[in-house]
Amino acid sequence: MGNTLHHGPVNVGPVNIGPVKHALILLLGLLPQPSMAADLQQLQRELIRHGFRLEYRHPPGTQAYGRFSAASKTLMISPLVTDLGIARPVFLHEAVHAAQSCPSGRLTLLGIQRNLDPVVESRIRFILRNHYSQANAALEREAFLIQALPDAEDVIITALRHRCQPPGG
Ligand SMILES: [Zn+2]
Repeated sequence: MGNTLHHGPVNVGPVNIGPVKHALILLLGLLPQPSMAADLQQLQRELIRHGFRLEYRHPPGTQAYGRFSAASKTLMISPLVTDLGIARPVFLHEAVHAAQSCPSGRLTLLGIQRNLDPVVESRIRFILRNHYSQANAALEREAFLIQALPDAEDVIITALRHRCQPPGG
């Protein structure tokens, strides 16, 4: 099944884990402050309304902080993200994959195009090139792009409403 995305290093041993985390945290530190339009709690409610499950435990068997499984419609978020101060971007990232999984369960692009700060763009390119398989590169690029937007919650909620069917609705 190609629909479980592991976020973090791909095919690297423990020796390389440190630099990966460092690069990710550097990227996340560059992101803009959240907007007040829609917040994370609204996004969480919207995900649940559309049949997704949220689990706050460390994704087993990986160094990644988040994981989305399309088969079980589950976002798994590591409790470590709170201590690291990266809860918002990690949650947004997995929420983008959830929206990408609608309507069929197979992940496809939302088609969101925005211009980012060139520094953030270049960080995203670096992380994709070094830590993600090419097969998922376009989906991952879109997730990183959206998590970097100040209005990411609104963007993802809109996508969920357009693409995902509420259960029984
Ligand atoms: Zn991802």
